[in-house]
Amino acid sequence: MNTTLCRFCGHELGETFADLGVSPLSNAFVHPKMVDHQEQVYPLHAKVCPACWLVQLPEIQSPDLIFSEYLYFSSFSETWLHHARMFSDTAMRRFRLGASSTVVEIASNDGYLLQFFHAAGVAVLGVEPAENVAQVAIAKGIPTEIAFFGCATAERLRAAGCRPDLIVANNVLAHVPDINDFVAGIALLLPSEGVAIIEFPHLLRLIENNQFDTIYHEHFSYLSLLTTEQIFLRHGLSVVEVEELETHGGSLRVHVRPCGHDTPQDSSVPVMLSHERAFGLESVEVYRDFARRIEAVKSDVVEFLVEAKRNGKTVLGYGAPAKGNTLLNYCGIGPDMLAFTVDRNPHKQGLLLPGSHIPVRAPEDLIAARPDYVFILPWNLRSEIIDQLSQIRAHGGAFAVPIPHLEIIP
Ligand SMILES: [Zn+2]
Repeated sequence: MNTTLCRFCGHELGETFADLGVSPLSNAFVHPKMVDHQEQVYPLHAKVCPACWLVQLPEIQSPDLIFSEYLYFSSFSETWLHHARMFSDTAMRRFRLGASSTVVEIASNDGYLLQFFHAAGVAVLGVEPAENVAQVAIAKGIPTEIAFFGCATAERLRAAGCRPDLIVANNVLAHVPDINDFVAGIALLLPSEGVAIIEFPHLLRLIENNQFDTIYHEHFSYLSLLTTEQIFLRHGLSVVEVEELETHGGSLRVHVRPCGHDTPQDSSVPVMLSHERAFGLESVEVYRDFARRIEAVKSDVVEFLVEAKRNGKTVLGYGAPAKGNTLLNYCGIGPDMLAFTVDRNPHKQGLLLPGSHIPVRAPEDLIAARPDYVFILPWNLRSEIIDQLSQIRAHGGAFAVPIPHLEIIP
């Protein structure tokens, strides 16, 4: 794939959206024994296409390397499980899904979502490329195809008689290197009466709220409805409804049907398209301005950590999400400023964060250390985390959240 051309429309890429230097892959956790070995680093430089306005990172690694061993298990987040339960309840009611229906989920992870459809008697099939998480789903009784999704997988599933009433693709569209093959695969697999529900982080919210840390190598595309609608249309799919969600700092959920289906387009679609135009997503200034604003966030975060250290205050981290690595590496924060972070996922504990080499420990260690500040890396889950850590406040500690602006929460 040519890295200077737009992955959707093939136009020459234009302006810089965010140049975050170089960093390792965000899931390349380092074993403490390997601390002195050179890590593989790649540029993290997002650009915008002046023809279709797709913000994107060039592909720098084969997807096999990125996704074959994935440490993100969706079921470790309570907020996420709640979102999944609400999603399945609403979809079953809205589309009258029952014992004769089939739901296919693309990037089904550990079965966190399909388990709710399965429990209600709906036939389910997951498609998941990371073998270790797919095996967790299979052990739970969720049939899962271990594969990348695209035209080849869609054709295989169709040939095997799969006719989904509903295809779900939540938080995967932005993570596929070949976005055309992926959307063409959805179009192939979706029967004429079927519906696909697709969720992705909203570029408008990323810009509005300085979420530069959601830029990492595995996250190839940063999507607006304006661009997404063009991508679907090119593959014979039409967006019939759009809804704004609070997940991942602000996402869109679109309902997509084959073009020619008799579902009328909901007014939410033209409303969102005009909102994006008014925000400036079809002009270059908005993208240029973003590059300037993220430098201000960096200065505030670094200043806070240096000042805390100078005053003898302890700051420890919470969470080890991909976005945390972008933030820490871009700001040049290491264990000298953040001695360790903690994560509930046991697969990450005992390892070092890629690039920054900040150790990841168990949450109990954070409570025991009685820090003055807890620096929350997964800021999208801040309320859940602050509730879980009530003991920190009891000890007189406070919380710091870096995005959209550094905020101290006593
Ligand atoms: Zn383009």
